Amino acid sequence: MATRWDTPTSTWLEDETSGQFALQATTGLGPIDWQAHARGRLPDVAHLLGASLPASCAHAGIYPEGFSFCPTCGAPLERLDGQVQHQPDWWGAASDQALPRHVPHGLPVTSLALGDRLEGRPAAPAVNRAELAMPAPPNAHCVFIAGTYGFPEQRLLALAPARGVLQYWDPLAQLWHVMGAEEAGAELRFNAGGYGWLPALNPARGEVGIVPLDTGLSRLWINPVNESYRLELLFAGRLASSPGVMRRQVGCLYVEDGVLNLLDAQLDFVNGTTWECPDAPTSGWMRPIGYDNRLFWLHPQGQLVWRPGEEPRWTPWPRGWTPKLDFGGPTQSRDGRLWHIGHDGQAYSFLELGADNPQVEPIDGARLGFANFLFRRGHPVLDQPWSAEHIEDAAQDDSLVLPLLRSFNNNRSQPSGLVLRFHAYTGRAEEALAGRTIARTTIEWIGKRNLILDEVARLARPLDCVPFVYAGALWLHHPDWNTVRGWRLEALT
Ligand SMILES: [Zn+2]
Repeated sequence: MATRWDTPTSTWLEDETSGQFALQATTGLGPIDWQAHARGRLPDVAHLLGASLPASCAHAGIYPEGFSFCPTCGAPLERLDGQVQHQPDWWGAASDQALPRHVPHGLPVTSLALGDRLEGRPAAPAVNRAELAMPAPPNAHCVFIAGTYGFPEQRLLALAPARGVLQYWDPLAQLWHVMGAEEAGAELRFNAGGYGWLPALNPARGEVGIVPLDTGLSRLWINPVNESYRLELLFAGRLASSPGVMRRQVGCLYVEDGVLNLLDAQLDFVNGTTWECPDAPTSGWMRPIGYDNRLFWLHPQGQLVWRPGEEPRWTPWPRGWTPKLDFGGPTQSRDGRLWHIGHDGQAYSFLELGADNPQVEPIDGARLGFANFLFRRGHPVLDQPWSAEHIEDAAQDDSLVLPLLRSFNNNRSQPSGLVLRFHAYTGRAEEALAGRTIARTTIEWIGKRNLILDEVARLARPLDCVPFVYAGALWLHHPDWNTVRGWRLEALT
């Protein structure tokens, strides 16, 4: 025999013999296979639902929302309803929705003021260490999001697009769970270019956002009680890029009959039109960048620029000029124009983006970075992207700095952010970013004070490093590492 309990959001059954409660259904979530999934996860589920947990007795592992006392013995319970945690969302370094319009969107730039929270540590040359560790997700080539998805607490997801695997971090059990598809064929795989998703800004329960798939665009919903997900198809087509958004218009590249097309849809996907881009390549596109009311898709052969409401324009790079897309991304000059670094076979230069007759500014060597967070070997480049580097410490001549994440802060005259510094490295930047194993790398914070956050021996493929912010800490993941390194951000709001 079982007694049914209805709360405002859920239905529970109480087994009269064992006194255990089993969740039958809850608002917004699909089917629940309670026996198979939730057993080891009761604390996490209780926090997500705002249910109650035993505090001093052991008559049941979990109690329905709003229960204050154990019905068996009357002992008080830990009530979790009404507790709402406020943590900033993290949508991937390139998906910050809160950046001002004069900062390019789609680059690894965060609006979170990380420097104020990190810079209390001993400054360089002191070598700090990561204070926190989290096991790496089982599918380690992944992107991270931390959001509430309509629940009272934030949860971390790691999506491995190449394999189409969605992983969920249970912070109470300290375990990763692989989420299963609720319907056969709900395939999360995306291999068609740089990865980027569009977050749900006011999510319903379980709503994550719009994700690109090899087969189209879908809204992703998770059921963390059941460790499962489902996809709601918004657009079916062979995608050639991730989606971008500009003034509530979504743009996404796809291929039809061997021709590149641009999908132009409203955020709700009720209305949409398409544009043909007949001369543009059909694969190999970077994640789009939003700037100056336009979306820019960069490609080794050229750029596709689109202003919502107008026809997209494909422009091949000038003859002989090749962009160095691995070096970072577009950067701005003081007058607000956007530039990208490249090489013309003789020398490096910056080329103006989105212009009919682009200006070219020659430079004497590689510069790594994006969005005005630029370095020439071990030294920052301030002022214009082509200005001479700012040498504070000549000893940094034999190091090479790779920017990973800029923390945008209006109050700072110089850009701050997270970087890797390769020591005693005098080789070419291209080789450091490709196959070379670097003997000694430091993870550094560049800001009002420069900090060495940690040290790494034998690092290869540094571009695989993924920074993210979750649970009041800055984390850095690399697929070769067994643990994700973390640094506390005190009182981050
Ligand atoms: Zn009890």
